[in-house]
Amino acid sequence: MCEQHHARNASPYAEGVSQHETDLLVVGAGPAGLYAAYYAGFRGYSVLLVDSLPELGGQVSALYPEKVIYDVAGFVAIKGQDLVDMLAEQAATADPTYLLGHRAEQLAVADDAVTVTTHLGDVVRAKAVLITGGIGTFSPRPLPDSELFADHGLRYFVRHLEDLAGQQVLIVGGGDSAFDWAASLEPIAASVTLIHRRTAFRAHQGTVDAVLASSVRVLTPYEVARINGNPRVESVEVFDNQSGDRQTLPVDTVVAALGFTADLGPFTRWGLEQRKRHILVDSAMRTNLPRVFAAGDIVEYDGKVKLISVAFGEAATAVNNAAGVIVPGARIFPGHSTGAEGS
Ligand SMILES: Cc1cc2nc3c(=O)[nH]c(=O)nc-3n(C[C@H](O)[C@H](O)[C@H](O)COP(=O)(O)OP(=O)(O)OC[C@H]3O[C@@H](n4cnc5c(N)ncnc54)[C@H](O)[C@@H]3O)c2cc1C
Repeated sequence: MCEQHHARNASPYAEGVSQHETDLLVVGAGPAGLYAAYYAGFRGYSVLLVDSLPELGGQVSALYPEKVIYDVAGFVAIKGQDLVDMLAEQAATADPTYLLGHRAEQLAVADDAVTVTTHLGDVVRAKAVLITGGIGTFSPRPLPDSELFADHGLRYFVRHLEDLAGQQVLIVGGGDSAFDWAASLEPIAASVTLIHRRTAFRAHQGTVDAVLASSVRVLTPYEVARINGNPRVESVEVFDNQSGDRQTLPVDTVVAALGFTADLGPFTRWGLEQRKRHILVDSAMRTNLPRVFAAGDIVEYDGKVKLISVAFGEAATAVNNAAGVIVPGARIFPGHSTGAEGS
């Protein structure tokens, strides 16, 4: 899937291929990338964001949109997707161009610009690049032998809980996502069953306790033997992997929460200095390559903490330090957002 929004800088390059010019290219539209986009706009720069996912928000939208976050400065509690929606609204003030569904694949650094090519062949020429690629491109671990049911009752994410209202839901998995979705769906689904192939769970104990005390039926050590239905899921045969016991459960939707595989992929081939499979940056968020900066979960430096609030600070630092590359002589500190007359 690929989408382009606000493509004010797009121009035809070859059939099916576009080239784009921008001041700042941001690779990764998670929290760090979205905040960087706002910041680029605040400094008066054009900004283009590339993301391999079809939607904004990075890990937050993809992995825990319904989870409540408690440690973002200024918000006592905020749902993941609500935070992303507000970041996107704030980023919109920069009038960004989004290339969604594009994986940044190649990087070429020249004296006066950096060029990034996406896997679909779009070429973006920028004065500076900010890599906010998080944990890389990530994809859900598939439920074996179930591809036929993808989009027919089998899903790997629950973006909108209401979609499953009144349904008989089977959740497969024993981690945080499995238990979060079980807890959130329990009040609105007709029934929720959670199966896990081990008897021990890898989820927050408070959530496990809440689920075990609720109407959610938890079966361990159970696995999926077979999904029945044509074309939609109608029932699922599950089995106890110790006793061999089998049961057939009436099911409308299977939520497979088996974890994700993440792939840093292209970033490892760009000549960037790395440590522990992360991009090494200095205190200005500069990488070892000229015109290339990085921020958020993907970076490494002594004392790095992987948190959204930290990613925001790093994004602001990166954009302000990229300023001198985008406009030679530009100051690092841009002044305060509270307005020309005040600060
Ligand atoms: C279950 C869970 C709960 C969490 N809870 C909290 C919490 O309560 N508080 C907190 O502060 N943090 C929490 N985190 C961590 C937080 O989500 C991350 O720190 C944050 O998302 C990092 O933001 P980012 O923008 O650096 O990266 P990401 O959110 O990972 O976004 C990176 C984006 O880059 C894209 N990308 C990667 N490679 C490419 C490429 N080659 N081309 C194009 N696009 C690419 C990805 O598709 C992705 O959209 C949690 C994480 C998880 C998994």
